Amino acid sequence: MNNKTDNNLMDKIVSLCKRRGYIFQSSEIYGGINSCWDYGPLGVELKNNIKRFWWESMTRLRDDIEGIDASILMHPKVWEASGHIKSFSDPLVDCKKCKQRFRANEINSGVCPECSGELTDVRQFNLMFKSHMGPVEEEASLVYLRPETAQGIYVNFSNVQLTSRKKIPFGIAQIGKAFRNEITPGNFIFRTREFEQMEMQYFVKPGTDEEWMEKWMNVRMEWYLALGINKDKLRFHQHSHEELAHYARAAYDIQYNFPFGWQELEGIHNRTDFDLKKHSEYSGKEMGYYDDVTKERFIPYIIETSAGCDRTLLVCLIDAYDEEEERVVLRLSPKIAPIKVAIFPLVKRDGMPDIARNITGMLRPHFKVFYDEDGTVGRRYRRQDEIGTPLAVTVDSDTLKDETVTLRDRDSMKQERVKISELREKIGKII
Ligand code: ATP
Repeated sequence: MNNKTDNNLMDKIVSLCKRRGYIFQSSEIYGGINSCWDYGPLGVELKNNIKRFWWESMTRLRDDIEGIDASILMHPKVWEASGHIKSFSDPLVDCKKCKQRFRANEINSGVCPECSGELTDVRQFNLMFKSHMGPVEEEASLVYLRPETAQGIYVNFSNVQLTSRKKIPFGIAQIGKAFRNEITPGNFIFRTREFEQMEMQYFVKPGTDEEWMEKWMNVRMEWYLALGINKDKLRFHQHSHEELAHYARAAYDIQYNFPFGWQELEGIHNRTDFDLKKHSEYSGKEMGYYDDVTKERFIPYIIETSAGCDRTLLVCLIDAYDEEEERVVLRLSPKIAPIKVAIFPLVKRDGMPDIARNITGMLRPHFKVFYDEDGTVGRRYRRQDEIGTPLAVTVDSDTLKDETVTLRDRDSMKQERVKISELREKIGKII
């Protein structure tokens, strides 16, 4: 099958996710809640692997980026300073007839796309979720669930810079939940009201910002290629003047060709000194940087790379999904596959299960493994193919004679004989 021409691809992925324990609808037993999803046993592994891969490449493998984990609830002034209270809104229209709600910029015809009913005038709708802090609602202060993780980084700029003794240029990375009361969530986990971001803010000297913007665009595109995403389905989209957010001087999206069209996967923005200047103004605190070589003080410019974890996960699933005559196979990169190795005894006798269990125990400290002895070995292979397990080890009657097993590759389905004593090293090389 050529999945590029398959119109039902999204339905197939949603169904596979539910059937195999990747992603479930939230609160399903109560009928579900719109646009909220729960990651199941395989989903949480895949998500953690994606986050780990991002964290390692953005922090551990570099010496110019530090990580933080800021709280979701922040001082309400943060959102005044950032411009979110005033500007973080989408234009909204309601249909007077069927009462459906749309983003005004999604409407072309001037009438309701569902029932052709008359639409209300355009209103601005702020996307931030509000809550109250404190036990008595009337006296409690209004707080917001953060709509992006970035602000937690800006308000900690000086804390991180001073404690880590970093010199500009340097970055601060963070992975965490963000919340947006989206008008039209949908397309499975593509647009939800609660999601996770993987953001990095890179602080540079003004004047070097354009050069860093270009560097980061390349680094981030390479990251998706290293995740195994098809190059032909990725591209940059430059924001036009009208599309630019209130804080940005230049912005590029990394887009992916989803079954529902080219859409943003990550935003890379030149935010200038907007954020630090605003926080300095609203807090009355100095947010600058002192360069002890040139003896200059300045407010750094910021290049931001802002990726959605759930959206990346959706891209990984879509990109990996393939159907062959005999099987469905998720060609996930071994780096992120939830289970790395499945281990099977060919049959449940002649001591094969014991040997297979011993191998499982031997590999478990090193790889995420899965032992399965139920059903025909062919069916067990198919089950693992469908969830993207790159390797399978089978113990058979030859194992009893020569202490070798078959190692089967998910993509090529080729099998080779490997000595049990060499299995760990061999798998390590492939993974
Ligand atoms: P969009 O135009 O799709 O609404 P955005 O331009 O508002 O996105 P950013 O503010 O740049 O998005 O957020 C950075 C990243 O966070 C996006 O590229 C996306 O991967 C992720 N993201 C943003 N909103 C959502 C959402 N509602 N659900 C899932 N992921 C999201």
